[in-house]
Amino acid sequence: MTAEEFSEAIQPLVEELKAIREALGEIREDIQWAVRNAQDYLSAINDAADEIRGEVLARVRWDDLPKPHLPSEETIACAHCDADSPRSLAEAVELGWSRLQSSDGIGEDYLGQCPDCAKKIDEVPAQRELF
Ligand SMILES: [Zn+2]
Repeated sequence: MTAEEFSEAIQPLVEELKAIREALGEIREDIQWAVRNAQDYLSAINDAADEIRGEVLARVRWDDLPKPHLPSEETIACAHCDADSPRSLAEAVELGWSRLQSSDGIGEDYLGQCPDCAKKIDEVPAQRELF
Protein backbone atom coordinates (compact mmCIF):
# COMPACT_ATOMS: atom_id res chain seq x y z
CA MET A 1 0.00 0.00 0.00
CA THR A 2 1.40 3.36 -1.03
CA ALA A 3 1.14 6.42 1.14
CA GLU A 4 -1.48 7.77 -1.25
CA GLU A 5 -3.56 4.61 -1.06
CA PHE A 6 -3.30 4.64 2.71
CA SER A 7 -4.39 8.28 2.92
CA GLU A 8 -7.34 7.52 0.67
CA ALA A 9 -8.29 4.47 2.73
CA ILE A 10 -8.44 6.38 6.00
CA GLN A 11 -10.18 9.44 4.51
CA PRO A 12 -13.69 8.28 5.58
CA LEU A 13 -12.41 7.73 9.13
CA VAL A 14 -10.86 11.19 9.20
CA GLU A 15 -14.17 12.70 8.03
CA GLU A 16 -16.04 10.74 10.68
CA LEU A 17 -13.64 11.95 13.37
CA LYS A 18 -14.17 15.57 12.28
CA ALA A 19 -17.94 15.12 12.46
CA ILE A 20 -17.67 13.61 15.93
CA ARG A 21 -15.47 16.51 17.14
CA GLU A 22 -17.95 19.02 15.77
CA ALA A 23 -20.87 17.24 17.43
CA LEU A 24 -19.00 17.14 20.76
CA GLY A 25 -18.33 20.88 20.46
CA GLU A 26 -22.05 21.54 19.92
CA ILE A 27 -23.01 19.29 22.83
CA ARG A 28 -20.52 21.14 25.05
CA GLU A 29 -22.11 24.48 24.08
CA ASP A 30 -25.60 23.13 24.75
CA ILE A 31 -24.57 21.86 28.18
CA GLN A 32 -22.93 25.20 29.05
CA TRP A 33 -26.09 27.02 27.97
CA ALA A 34 -28.29 24.65 30.02
CA VAL A 35 -26.11 25.04 33.14
CA ARG A 36 -26.08 28.84 32.84
CA ASN A 37 -29.83 29.05 32.31
CA ALA A 38 -30.71 26.36 34.83
CA GLN A 39 -29.25 28.69 37.45
CA ASP A 40 -31.60 31.46 36.32
CA TYR A 41 -34.59 29.13 36.22
CA LEU A 42 -33.74 27.74 39.63
CA SER A 43 -33.54 31.18 41.19
CA ALA A 44 -36.80 32.16 39.52
CA ILE A 45 -38.44 29.02 40.89
CA ASN A 46 -36.96 29.64 44.35
CA ASP A 47 -38.13 33.26 44.33
CA ALA A 48 -41.64 32.17 43.35
CA ALA A 49 -41.64 29.51 46.08
CA ASP A 50 -40.49 32.09 48.67
CA GLU A 51 -43.21 34.47 47.57
CA ILE A 52 -45.92 31.80 47.78
CA ARG A 53 -44.64 30.64 51.18
CA GLY A 54 -44.71 34.25 52.42
CA GLU A 55 -48.26 34.79 51.17
CA VAL A 56 -49.49 31.56 52.71
CA LEU A 57 -47.83 32.28 56.05
CA ALA A 58 -49.26 35.81 56.03
CA ARG A 59 -52.78 34.42 55.53
CA VAL A 60 -52.69 31.51 57.95
CA ARG A 61 -53.50 32.28 61.55
CA TRP A 62 -52.66 29.74 64.20
CA ASP A 63 -56.14 29.94 65.70
CA ASP A 64 -57.74 29.09 62.33
CA LEU A 65 -55.82 25.85 61.92
CA PRO A 66 -57.74 22.70 62.74
CA LYS A 67 -56.58 21.22 66.01
CA PRO A 68 -56.26 17.50 66.38
CA HIS A 69 -58.58 16.08 68.96
CA LEU A 70 -56.39 15.05 71.81
CA PRO A 71 -57.73 12.86 74.55
CA SER A 72 -57.73 14.35 78.02
CA GLU A 73 -54.88 13.33 80.21
CA GLU A 74 -56.53 14.60 83.35
CA THR A 75 -59.87 16.16 84.15
CA ILE A 76 -60.20 19.37 86.08
CA ALA A 77 -63.48 20.80 87.33
CA CYS A 78 -64.14 24.37 88.32
CA ALA A 79 -65.56 24.58 91.83
CA HIS A 80 -67.93 27.38 90.76
CA CYS A 81 -69.10 26.63 87.22
CA ASP A 82 -69.21 23.85 84.66
CA ALA A 83 -66.34 25.16 82.55
CA ASP A 84 -64.83 22.65 80.14
CA SER A 85 -61.92 20.78 81.60
CA PRO A 86 -58.49 21.60 80.23
CA ARG A 87 -56.80 18.54 78.74
CA SER A 88 -54.24 18.35 81.50
CA LEU A 89 -53.16 19.89 84.76
CA ALA A 90 -50.29 21.55 82.90
CA GLU A 91 -52.74 23.12 80.43
CA ALA A 92 -54.95 24.27 83.32
CA VAL A 93 -52.01 26.10 84.88
CA GLU A 94 -51.11 27.59 81.51
CA LEU A 95 -54.70 28.79 81.00
CA GLY A 96 -54.75 30.52 84.37
CA TRP A 97 -56.66 28.06 86.53
CA SER A 98 -55.95 28.56 90.20
CA ARG A 99 -56.50 26.88 93.57
CA LEU A 100 -55.91 23.51 91.95
CA GLN A 101 -56.08 20.57 94.27
CA SER A 102 -56.62 16.84 94.03
CA SER A 103 -60.25 15.92 94.01
CA ASP A 104 -61.48 13.26 96.37
CA GLY A 105 -64.64 12.95 94.31
CA ILE A 106 -65.32 10.18 91.78
CA GLY A 107 -65.63 12.51 88.79
CA GLU A 108 -62.67 14.81 88.28
CA ASP A 109 -59.01 14.30 89.01
CA TYR A 110 -58.60 17.91 90.15
CA LEU A 111 -60.76 20.67 91.49
CA GLY A 112 -59.90 24.30 90.94
CA GLN A 113 -61.02 27.72 89.88
CA CYS A 114 -61.30 28.54 86.19
CA PRO A 115 -59.91 31.87 84.92
CA ASP A 116 -63.43 33.27 84.30
CA CYS A 117 -64.56 32.60 87.85
CA ALA A 118 -61.26 33.90 89.23
CA LYS A 119 -61.85 37.11 87.26
CA LYS A 120 -65.43 37.49 88.55
CA ILE A 121 -64.26 36.96 92.09
CA ASP A 122 -61.54 39.60 91.65
CA GLU A 123 -64.11 42.06 90.26
CA VAL A 124 -66.30 41.69 93.36
CA PRO A 125 -63.91 41.83 96.30
CA ALA A 126 -66.73 41.38 98.81
CA GLN A 127 -67.46 37.95 97.39
CA ARG A 128 -63.94 36.73 97.98
CA GLU A 129 -64.90 35.49 101.38
CA LEU A 130 -67.61 33.32 99.86
CA PHE A 131 -65.15 31.20 97.97
ZN1 LIG B 1 -65.51 28.53 86.72
